[in-house]
Amino acid sequence: MLSPNLTDYTSVAAGFSWEKEQAGLSGLPNGQGLNMAHEAVDRHAAGDLKYKTAFRFIHKDMLVMDCTYQDFRELSNRFANVLGELGVAKGDRVFSFLGRMPELYFAALGTLKKVAVFCPLFNVFGPEPVFQRLSRGDAKVLVTTKDLFEKKVRQLLGRLPELTYVLLTDVDHDESQQIRSLPRLMEQASDAFTIPPTDPEDPALLHFTSGTTGMPKGALHVHKAVLVHYVTGKYVLDFHPGDIYWCTADPGWVTGTSYGIIAPLVNGVTNVVDEEEFDATRWYAILEEQKVNVWYTAPTGIRRLMRMNIVPKDQYNLENLRLMLSVGEPLHAEAVIWGEQNFGMPFLDNWWQTETGGIMIANYRSMPVRPGSMGKPLPGVEAAIAEVTDNSFRLIDEPDKDGHLVLKRGWPSMFRTYLHDPALYHNSFHGEWYITGDLARRDADGYYWFVGRADDIIKTSGHMVGPFEVESALMEHPAVAEAAVIGKPDPLIGELVKAFVVLKPGQQANEDLKMDITAHARRKLGPAVAPKEIAFIDNLPKTRSGKILRRLLKARELGLPEGDLSTLEQP
Ligand code: AMP
Repeated sequence: MLSPNLTDYTSVAAGFSWEKEQAGLSGLPNGQGLNMAHEAVDRHAAGDLKYKTAFRFIHKDMLVMDCTYQDFRELSNRFANVLGELGVAKGDRVFSFLGRMPELYFAALGTLKKVAVFCPLFNVFGPEPVFQRLSRGDAKVLVTTKDLFEKKVRQLLGRLPELTYVLLTDVDHDESQQIRSLPRLMEQASDAFTIPPTDPEDPALLHFTSGTTGMPKGALHVHKAVLVHYVTGKYVLDFHPGDIYWCTADPGWVTGTSYGIIAPLVNGVTNVVDEEEFDATRWYAILEEQKVNVWYTAPTGIRRLMRMNIVPKDQYNLENLRLMLSVGEPLHAEAVIWGEQNFGMPFLDNWWQTETGGIMIANYRSMPVRPGSMGKPLPGVEAAIAEVTDNSFRLIDEPDKDGHLVLKRGWPSMFRTYLHDPALYHNSFHGEWYITGDLARRDADGYYWFVGRADDIIKTSGHMVGPFEVESALMEHPAVAEAAVIGKPDPLIGELVKAFVVLKPGQQANEDLKMDITAHARRKLGPAVAPKEIAFIDNLPKTRSGKILRRLLKARELGLPEGDLSTLEQP
């Protein structure tokens, strides 16, 4: 077994400095700054990794296409030249609206080389969410397929005066000055490109948050974020030379960009990209056939695997798998333990969000896992628990107290603004502290435990109840596959805890089972916190990135407007 890069959390954290870690990056030649794409691709293509596979694309029919670092240097160079040809300037916004195909990835890296800003959109969005994002993001160029263009974009063109070019990936001829053939432009472009001087503070990536609350906000990240991608790749994903790595997230969600493009390449490993959506047997087959060493996924996928009667370690050859990680939602203790029993290793949970640009709190390979905990702050990141009200802010030093999870300003991948909303950005901070909008607690040993989104917290009979705690207890019932909990206004107790429960296959939804689940929850949680109402439901509403949309369950329960549903995944 390879020894972990981070062998001793305490000593690495004590001796950590971002300046020192910068030595793992090369910077642009002649001190011309720091560019993400140079760190991810060009420096490797110019060195020992030139012929190493950078991307392994798995097509729908399981056909595999490998691209080396050298191939990707050329493809991204061509794309950067295409942008130059079209007059794209530094800071202009280039959007993709594509499935997980090579064009998405070379467009991302080529845009970064041109020091323009890349913004990937989920290809399942309907016209309205596409419009919102293209217009709020002042898109100048959009890369998409003919099919997506015809179905969802053409009708928007009249409302998007700034959208100068649409580059179609699968047509041979230009339709007009505006609607062009990407293959033709790529063919005409040179495969040589010199990255211009790039200030580490130059904007690089724009990500709209998944909108679990309110309207999507455009968080802007800079080239310097690559330092966090590098460091987390090293210490959390524990990349080693020769690793095959698979991140199941789509680049439309920040995880699919930071950890589905940049972090693996910066660390010089092979990045598997699967074009398809979740399918349990396909996922297991990929892990086995591609000999995946490091696998980064999300609770939504893990819970789906848990619902199947498959014991992966008995049915598949997973001898290459060294590390499994999870992000995006609370990872219930149940899931961590299921990993141990069925894969022979736990899922390591980590926490971060669009605004943080990279992993901030994590379980590390070398550290004992406490199932249900998000782990400890990344070395170099200062996290704390704070009491925050409209007009006060106080750090809570005592352990085991619930409060707002806050991060000390200054980690390199911190977002630099919300596009067109500087006031909202400003309000996300209190002095030196960024207020994440999540509630958590820290135990006496420094592990962080997720409590809930500040706006999902339930106030019942004077108690503050985090949905996660209740959902975790429900998930421990043998009949329960998934659960989501909301607060429902109640004249007597403020809010009552209501649970929506998805049953495992083969379970019958009936009153006896409801009583049994209620009794189980009361035993685990006590009557004050256990759900007073339970409803069975076939599927929980989720975002494309797999987050349960509790606010939607609540709106539906109360007959209120459903709000922004642009990221809702259709079951
Ligand atoms: P997004 O910006 O869409 O990635 O969403 C970020 C939010 O997802 C966080 O603020 C948390 O509410 C939630 N989240 C992400 N990772 C975790 C985790 N490991 N445990 C609990 N919640 C998480």
